[in-house]
Amino acid sequence: MNKEKENIVVLGAGESGVGAAILAKAKGFDVFVSDAGIIKPNFKDELNEHAIPWEEGGHTMSRILNADEVIKSPGIPNSSELIQQIRANGVIPICDIEFAARYTNAKLIAITGSNGKTTTTHLVHHVLKAGELAVEMAGNVGVSFARCVLENRADFYVLELSSFQLEDMYDFKADIAILLNITPDHLDRYNDNILTYGRAKMRIINNQSIADAFIYNADDEQIKIQLEKHVVHAKRFPFSLTNTQVEGGFYKEEEKTISIKNKLTMSIHDLALKGKHNVQNSLVAGITGKLVGIRKESIRESLSDFTNVEHRLEFVAKVNGIEFINDSKATNINATWFALESMNNPTVWVVGGVDKGNDYEELLPLVQEKVKAIICLGKDNSKIIEAFADVVDTIVETQSPVDAVGYGYQLAKKDDTVLLSPACASFDLFENYEDRGQQFKNAVRSL
Ligand code: ADP
Repeated sequence: MNKEKENIVVLGAGESGVGAAILAKAKGFDVFVSDAGIIKPNFKDELNEHAIPWEEGGHTMSRILNADEVIKSPGIPNSSELIQQIRANGVIPICDIEFAARYTNAKLIAITGSNGKTTTTHLVHHVLKAGELAVEMAGNVGVSFARCVLENRADFYVLELSSFQLEDMYDFKADIAILLNITPDHLDRYNDNILTYGRAKMRIINNQSIADAFIYNADDEQIKIQLEKHVVHAKRFPFSLTNTQVEGGFYKEEEKTISIKNKLTMSIHDLALKGKHNVQNSLVAGITGKLVGIRKESIRESLSDFTNVEHRLEFVAKVNGIEFINDSKATNINATWFALESMNNPTVWVVGGVDKGNDYEELLPLVQEKVKAIICLGKDNSKIIEAFADVVDTIVETQSPVDAVGYGYQLAKKDDTVLLSPACASFDLFENYEDRGQQFKNAVRSL
């Protein structure tokens, strides 16, 4: 137990907060959990079972300011009054990952980026598991990292990390750090400054030494900018879709193959995940697999038999020769760009929702080339209509996923694709992106 810090406050009682509270309690700290909202009943039960006191519907500042250490949910911005007060009182809040990492000796593989974190976390996990390593994934996927650490069953953890978590990490060190891309997303929390957002993502390499590895996207403009401003101590493994000279792994357009650490070559037709973005994700998983000593044959097999995560370019069904794809998780322009790029058939594109400051210009060439009709599925579609009215003749609007699928079915012909890839958040019409994807899939299945 850490003798100097005995009194811990956990802010936010979601999966990560409750996991951290239970770990802290098990390590002998006095723990108090405080949530401004309403705590889910199952989490309340768990806290009670572990005799951890909690409050909801507000924060008791006297108790919070008395803490030796504060573990905060990444959902609470550092600019908030609450965090400002805690900092002014001399305590710098940390996130659950920083806390839990203190209690494990396992190897840590940390993945960040604007898009592809969840897919790549699952894919890396799949490759390591197929290679018969004791591996678990945590962070934003599945159970909290703190719970995993408490169980102490794994030799490797694959951690999906957001920039918000990274901002509250100080001593954490990744044995393998992975940076997929830096494209505009969540800029509202970074004063619309992509450099500040990029700087938060670069924290993934903090505390690394030459004994560690840094895998990153060598094609990404913002990563290039950040690399000029940072000293990288780890061994670098860049990957690229265009440069076949990089050390980590690359895609060779003429041969349609990927090469991993110049040791493993594979046709992209054998990759389970389609689309250029997934070539990147597969490169990352392959490089990671090689770095931890997995055999080529095993890596090849696991890159080809992986099942994609729901709501990410997910094949739903073929109805009378029309293919329906659910990419509801595409909540920004970059993710949708890759979805459109991967379309091989004329496409009816379902797009719209809550726009986080999108610049649709970037999609114009792809839309012109691939999209035959647009179905707007959002409350305010004016920006989308304005952006594409000149290049797409048919644009319809609806607020119903059932109607969106119905229009898609009418507008598409045999061998066309109806693609839901909204480039927007979902909360104007849906609970979340899962709800949007599920309603889309239900509508397709009842055609
Ligand atoms: P995240 O966890 O970072 O949000 P996901 O794996 O959930 O990423 O994917 C989010 C969206 O981005 C999906 O539409 C997916 O198809 C797309 N995507 C996946 N990998 C990448 C990548 N490397 N670059 C760009 N887009 C990607």
